[in-house]
This record gives sequence, C-alpha cells and structure tokens, in this order.
Amino acid sequence: MKEAQGGGALPGTSLQRACRLLVVFCALHLSATLLYYLAGSSDLRPPRNSEPPPRSLGAANRAQPGPPPPPPRSPRIVWVFWNLHTHCLSWSFPVGALHVEFSQPVNLEEVEKINPEVREGGRYAPKDCKALQKVAIIIPFRNRDEHLKYWLYYLHPILQRQQLDYGVYVINQGGEETFNRAKLLNVGFEEALKEYDYGCFVFSDVDLIPMDDRNIYKCYSQPRHLSVSMDKFGFRLPYNQYFGGVSALNKEQFVKINGFPNNYWGWGGEDDDIYNRLFFKGMRISRPDAVIGKCRMIRHSRDHKNEPNPQRFDRIAHTRETMNSDGLNTLSYKVVKTEKYPLYTKITVDVGSPNK
Ligand code: BGC
Repeated sequence: MKEAQGGGALPGTSLQRACRLLVVFCALHLSATLLYYLAGSSDLRPPRNSEPPPRSLGAANRAQPGPPPPPPRSPRIVWVFWNLHTHCLSWSFPVGALHVEFSQPVNLEEVEKINPEVREGGRYAPKDCKALQKVAIIIPFRNRDEHLKYWLYYLHPILQRQQLDYGVYVINQGGEETFNRAKLLNVGFEEALKEYDYGCFVFSDVDLIPMDDRNIYKCYSQPRHLSVSMDKFGFRLPYNQYFGGVSALNKEQFVKINGFPNNYWGWGGEDDDIYNRLFFKGMRISRPDAVIGKCRMIRHSRDHKNEPNPQRFDRIAHTRETMNSDGLNTLSYKVVKTEKYPLYTKITVDVGSPNK
C-alpha cells in the first residue's frame, strides 16, 4: 500500500516538471513570435478581403527595403523558432469551401489585374516566407482556351493563398494527330525542369477546378490524387483505383515509375496505367477527404481527335511488362514554340503519331 502511495507521488512530480517545461517552452515561443512580428510588422499581409494593390504599387512595395534581417545565430533555440516562422505554412490563410461556377465569361486582362504578384510565365513565390515546395503545374492542352481562362481565374488566387513557389505550364499538342494526354504530361515534367528546380509536379486537366482551397496543390510522401470528389461523378470516386483529373507526384515518385506511358492515344486508360505503375512500385495513393476534395468540371462535348482509345483495356492489362520500356526513358518530342504569357507558359509540342 505504502509503495503504491510512494509510486503515486513520483508521476505527480514528473507532471509538475513537464508542466514547468511546457510553460518555459511557451514563453520562449511567444517571445520569438513577438520578436519576429516586431521585426517584420511593416510587412504584414493585408486582410483577406482587402483590394489587391495595383501592379505599379505592388512593384513599388517590392522595391522597399527587402528581406527580413538574418536570423540571430544564438541562442540556437531562437534560430529554430525563426525558421519555423520564416517557412510558409501552406494552411495559413485558407478560405475553405469556394463558390465555383462557369456562367460568366472570363476576361484574362482582369485576371491579370487581380493577380499583380504573378510574374511572367505564370510564376509566383511568396515574398514574406519561404515556400515549402517548388511546384510545377502541368496542364495538357488543345483548343480549350475558354476553359483555360476559368482555370487561371480560379487557381491563381488559390495557389497564392497556399503559399507555393509555383509555375503554370500549358503543354499544347500541336498538329492534328490524336490527343495524347500522358505524353504531354511527360513533356511538361521535362520542360518545367529545364526552367527551374521543381520538386513537385501537379498534373491537372484544364477543366477541373477545386471547390476548397484546403486541397493543397503540393506533394506528399505518397503520390496524391486531388480530384477525388468530382461533380461529374456525384462527388465521389468512380472506383477506388481512379487516378484521373488532378494528381501530384514529387520528382522521385515520378522517376521511380519511369514517368507516364507515351503510347495511349485518344481518351481513356492512361490514368489507370499510371495507377498501376505506382502500385507495382510499392506506392499507395494519398487523398484529401471527400469534402476538401470536391471539384467542378466544366461541361463540354467530346474533343475532336480524342475518341475513346479501343486499345486501352489491353494496354492497362500489361502495365507491369511495359512500364520499364515505355515512359521517361523513351520520351521523344519536338518543342515547336514556347510562349510566355503573364499568367502561364505555353509550350507547343510535336509529340509524333501513334505509328511512330
Ligand atoms: C478510363 C479512365 C477514366 C475513367 C473515368 C475509365 O474507364 O479508363 O481513363 O478516367 O474511366 O472516366
């Protein structure tokens, strides 16, 4: 009995000690926060609903005495806190559920005006903190300019709120050959890397808009499927292995599966092949929940030269045998034209034809 009482006293002491430590920890955290905000208070963000500054004013702001003073070298703990604060937190300013609709046409010049911080070619990096990831957004494309305007209108503000260091790459299939989505995505990976040291690649159809900005367009420890709850499918997954629409892979994950297949011409199957590749390399899909993962698709009729691919079922059945000899290591294409627009980079490519 005595022993039991004595034994009871010890955890009490450790609890007190733990509490004291916690108080010291919080005090340190508070003072580091205070220090940081005092140092950078002139650079605080405007409230979410305030008007964005006009382009010229934005430029003037950028020219102001710039970077925050370097982190103090000692004591070390302050340095750690400094780092915690200078790195962006991708969930800093989420709005949550967003209203998305496609009834009004989009004027691109207006979209440019409301995104003064986006640099030529559709590049952006937060200026007050260090982005956690460098993300290339790759959009396979052909003759969908109206859809692209909606995408730019909705996505640029979202991606900026997510505090990503990102670039938008529209990979346009030139010529009249049957559409090849997966090959265009491979091209986007290669071309974006020529421009910047991206570590994460988000592959997005041009007609898909997220309905919640907590669905972060970044990479995770496992390949990420982002468009999990599409209006087109009644806001649910059409099947568990579905990996179409919008997905994100980091560089290592992409290289590990030898990129995407190059030989799916026409609609369908290539996303299932990508799923198989990930599965055969021992990866699993990570997803947001069905609320955060909601998205809307812009309704449209089937594109010319993108008829359902009759060979897709046969190809999907053989991913394991074909994935090492069809992908990044056999990718060939010709860049026809690169155009830098204020909100995106458009790369027109010749991806060849099914018979070559
Ligand atoms: C096709 C996929 C497509 C999915 C949903 C499947 O049958 O193979 O490419 O994404 O249907 O439409």
